[in-house]
Amino acid sequence: MRRVFTGGSVVAPDGTSTIADVLIDDDRIVDVGSGLDADESIDVTGKHMLPGLFDVHIHLGMPHIDFVARARQAPGLIYYQAIASMQQTLDCGITTVRDAGGADLGMKEAVQRGIIAGPRMHIAIRMLSQTGGHGDPTLMSGGHLFPYEWPGFPRSVVDGPEEVRKAVRKLVQAGADVLKVATSGGVLSPNDDPKHAHFQPDELEMMRAETQAAGIFMMAHAQAYDGVKNAIRAGFRSIDHGIYLDDEAIQLMLDMGTWLVPTLLAPQGVVRAAEAGVPIPPSSLAKAHDVIGIHKESVTKAVAAGVKVAMGTDCPVSPHGSNLGELDLMVGCGMTPGQAFFAATQSAADCMGLGDELGSIEPGKIADLVIVDGDPLEFGSLKNNIEHVWQAGHPIHIDQEDHAG
Ligand SMILES: [Zn+2]
Repeated sequence: MRRVFTGGSVVAPDGTSTIADVLIDDDRIVDVGSGLDADESIDVTGKHMLPGLFDVHIHLGMPHIDFVARARQAPGLIYYQAIASMQQTLDCGITTVRDAGGADLGMKEAVQRGIIAGPRMHIAIRMLSQTGGHGDPTLMSGGHLFPYEWPGFPRSVVDGPEEVRKAVRKLVQAGADVLKVATSGGVLSPNDDPKHAHFQPDELEMMRAETQAAGIFMMAHAQAYDGVKNAIRAGFRSIDHGIYLDDEAIQLMLDMGTWLVPTLLAPQGVVRAAEAGVPIPPSSLAKAHDVIGIHKESVTKAVAAGVKVAMGTDCPVSPHGSNLGELDLMVGCGMTPGQAFFAATQSAADCMGLGDELGSIEPGKIADLVIVDGDPLEFGSLKNNIEHVWQAGHPIHIDQEDHAG
């Protein structure tokens, strides 16, 4: 079935727009130009047509960050809660994501098979962490809020190269498209320090070798100094968070072609969640307050130096559906609106290795389209102005209630 969208302005990944028709055949864009005809014509005169947007750091398997509430609920409930999180993501015009831990192969396949609506996903399933690291669920009491491992969700707290080897292979076996590693401490984990580097060079080298053999990229939860630099040197595709970046880290990212995924929404999300009564550990809240200013400075320096940026939000640290707030925060770090839009489209697609298939409206690419009324670079009103979302040539239901909020 060939469909043509007529009369709209096609927005390029750099934010510039040109009036053109867009012809799609089944799931692909086949032509962009004038006077195109098809079996069905859709008039989008006066509207903007955007490529489907990306979020390269999200947790669709986590409904919120109230881990105590989650520990009290039946484990299977998270799959049903993910349905709403996925819809809230689609409502933002986000049609592709990289899940940084939490979503498993069942969630990904439920979308692929059309059982539920959701963004197409690359999944990490679970984050590798050293003992006592950002992903170690052990509480001071010795207990855990969640079971340590279950089918499809292998154990990911590892020490030493041989445990790393086994864990990477188990994650790949369970369906991981990307390896997520905590190469530094974090904010939401109560007992570690974002400034400390985690994993030693021999462990990182094993991750590099095993992911290269499996043909997948690595993404680093990396917040500071050596935790960031070790990951860049080990060949990680992206540094996510990047709260403390010095000149050496920035130069290394430029040399290695590493993406920065700032997740500027995340520390603010921790503070707001605490204000709303979510039981955030006091040490985590203190860390969140500590990092907001330096995070902005670091990202501003990296942007000025020309480091590649891809948009990731870390939702639900900030609630699912608030993703597009990241765009204005990136502009606040010195990006032009066009650069921020690029980070959410072509740059993100390239970061995920999908740049030939997605990220722009061009012949040969998958037909992910977002139809917007009004200026798409006015990010504060972008979500409310989204009228229709198409994913691989199919119209996606958009929840207008969610838009009103
Ligand atoms: Zn995250």
